[in-house]
Amino acid sequence: MLVLKPGCECCDIDLPAESPDARICSFECTFCAACAERLSARCPNCGGELVRRPIRPADKLANNPASTTRVHKPSGCAWPMPQGVWSLL
Ligand SMILES: [Zn+2]
Ligand SMILES: [Zn+2]
Repeated sequence: MLVLKPGCECCDIDLPAESPDARICSFECTFCAACAERLSARCPNCGGELVRRPIRPADKLANNPASTTRVHKPSGCAWPMPQGVWSLL
């Protein structure tokens, strides 16, 4: 069963099960639409395609709930900006 992770691995934005902005690779690495675009729709972990995560129907979510385990690995995301910029935020 597809693991519906609750957030983007790059920016940690919330991606609830019903979000149309979630993108996943074949290993279920999960990103938001903005990060996926920045990554040219390539997963930084495995190099695979990032595609829109299908939305699980609400009635199915009741028995097959989304994951609550957050995965946040900003180091794995190839930020196009210089490292120092983010320490200023
Ligand atoms: Zn993101
Ligand atoms: Zn991946």
